[in-house]
Order: sequence, then C-alpha cells, then structure tokens
Amino acid sequence: MTTNWDVVVVGGGAAGLSAAVMLGRSRRSVVVIDAGDPRNGPAEHMHGFLGHDGVGPLELLARGRTEVERYGGTIRSGEVVGLRGSRDDFTVTTAEGEDLHARRVVVTTGLTDELPDIPGLRDRWGRDVLHCPYCHGWEVQDQPIAVIGTGARSVHQAQMFRQLSDQVTLLTNEAVELTEADLDDLAERGIALRSGAVEEVVVADDRICGVLVGGDLVACTAVVVGPRASARAGLLSSLGLSPTEHPAGIGDHVRADGMGQTEVPGVFVAGNVNDPAAQVVTAAAAGTKVGAVVNADLLGLL
Ligand SMILES: Cc1cc2nc3c(=O)[nH]c(=O)nc-3n(C[C@H](O)[C@H](O)[C@H](O)COP(=O)(O)OP(=O)(O)OC[C@H]3O[C@@H](n4cnc5c(N)ncnc54)[C@H](O)[C@@H]3O)c2cc1C
Repeated sequence: MTTNWDVVVVGGGAAGLSAAVMLGRSRRSVVVIDAGDPRNGPAEHMHGFLGHDGVGPLELLARGRTEVERYGGTIRSGEVVGLRGSRDDFTVTTAEGEDLHARRVVVTTGLTDELPDIPGLRDRWGRDVLHCPYCHGWEVQDQPIAVIGTGARSVHQAQMFRQLSDQVTLLTNEAVELTEADLDDLAERGIALRSGAVEEVVVADDRICGVLVGGDLVACTAVVVGPRASARAGLLSSLGLSPTEHPAGIGDHVRADGMGQTEVPGVFVAGNVNDPAAQVVTAAAAGTKVGAVVNADLLGLL
C-alpha cells in the first residue's frame, strides 16, 4: 500500500508531535509514525515543563496525539525501517512493508541511553537510577546519593547533585581521572570519594540500598550515572547521513542547521536525535520550530 503526504514525521515523542501540530494547523497533510518507546518512558513523572509538571511521560504524549488529530494529522503506530529519495519525492518504508511518499521528512527518533554494564543498574533506570538533576533531582534531595563514574562528566554530575544533598559520593569506577583541581573542588564541596570498580547496584524491598565497590556496600538510596547518548539514526544511513560526535562530549547526534535542516535537502531533525541535551520542553520547542520551517519551505519561502 502507498500513500502520499506533504510530510512524514518519524517518531512521535515531544519533538515529533509538536512538529505535527504546527503542520496540521497549517493544513498540511501530515502523518506521524511512532514506535512508542520515548526516552523518558521508564520514569513515572516528568518535571521541568512549565504547566505540565508531574504529568506522566506517556500521558503527555497521549495529550499530544489528541492535539495532532484535532488538526487533521494522522498518528500511526509502527517502526520506520527505510528512507530513500530526495526533496519532494521521499519514500518512507515501515516495518510492515508499507511505503509512504512525502515531500518532506522530519526525523524525531530521539536517542538511546547507553548505560554501563553493571548488574542491577538498568532495572532501576528512570526510577532511582538518574542522570539529570533538573528532571528528578528534587525528588531525591537530602538522600545519600552515589554518582557512578563514567568519565570526566561524572565530576560535574557530582557537583550538580551536591546542590540537592550533602550526602554525595563520587565512585570513580576506574573511569574518572581526577586532577588536583578536581580533588580540591570535591573536598571543598564535601563530596566523598571512593575508588575502585562498581560491581553491583544492590536493591532491597524494591529500593536501592547501596552500591557494591570492592566488596563493600556504599550505602545510598539513589544512584546517578551519565550514559552515553547514541542517536537513533540508523534509518538515515541510506541517505548518506550518519551521526557525528556532539561537541559537548555526551555522545553523538545528527547535525543540522539552526532550522533543523540536515545535510540532505528536505530531511529535517528535531529533539534528542539532534540535541542530546534537550529536555522535553526543549525537544517540543525544537519540533514546533521545525514544523513551522517545513511549512515555510513547502510554501517556497526559504
Ligand atoms: C529516565 C529519563 C527521565 C527523564 N525525565 C525527564 C523529565 O522529567 N523532564 C524532562 O524535561 N526531560 C526528561 N528526560 C529527557 C526526555 O526523555 C527527552 O528530553 C525527550 O524524550 C526528548 O524527546 P524526543 O521527542 O526528542 O524523543 P523521544 O521522546 O525519545 O521520542 C522519540 C520517539 O521516536 C520513536 N522512534 C524511534 N525510532 C523510530 C523509528 N525508526 N520509527 C518510528 N518511531 C521511532 C520512539 O519510539 C519514540 O517514541 C528524561 C530522560 C530519561 C532517560
């Protein structure tokens, strides 16, 4: 089966749905194809989005889908596995084998958080294993917090979480090399240090109770870790687009200009696939902007 659209949006998170709302309100025919696995799906609540604080991540997206449909947009569940063609004539192929033709494509597929391979860590991700002080730091304030070292950024994480609790321990985990300046800074802030490889995140009664290092239990009720961001961009490789290292050193991303236009004319990106540091409100803002840019592009105004 083949269908024709002004725009196919690949990914229905905050970025993709926001782009689709702008396109729908501009009376563009737009379809969002979404695999239903938003990055913050493991978290029960979302914070830091003015007017939506504490809303469940999936609830926010359900509201977003309703808004897209209100303006004539179409939402489909599914995975996009193929993308070919050029400006004004793209073919987007789903895992079910459907081809959709589109004049423009907006890719908002987000990123994958690559966590260190430590027993017990992944199961608690988004619950009491955290990465972002702004998203879930408030909820663990004054608790004993262990920061598992993954690289230089871990020092920064320990400093950030120290604003929320005076019981922060940085576990170097054989991954963090501390300078004299780091050591002075950590001591000044009252951040404890523990060297050695982290062996396990220990859970009791469905709560973290500590982290095993060298056979010792470092007691804590929350763990902070800095995963590497890996852009979900495999479907762009057929167009010659591949992710490049992000300048912030937090992983890779698909490069674009300030309007979301990638190096392939007619293919746009927004949200975490382009900006790994984007929070939900930032991803939504980027999607809104790209939706407007794509409409202007279709009007021949760019
Ligand atoms: C545990 C955790 C908690 C977080 N909490 C917060 C918070 O409280 N507040 C905050 O502001 N930010 C939070 N964040 C960050 C937040 O998750 C991101 O800012 C946000 O998800 C980015 O939105 P996005 O639309 O770019 O990507 P996503 O939300 O990840 O959406 C991408 C969508 O594209 C789909 N997709 C991917 N590939 C394909 C494909 N090939 N075909 C079809 N669909 C595809 C995915 O299934 C997904 O539904 C948190 C992150 C994590 C990891």
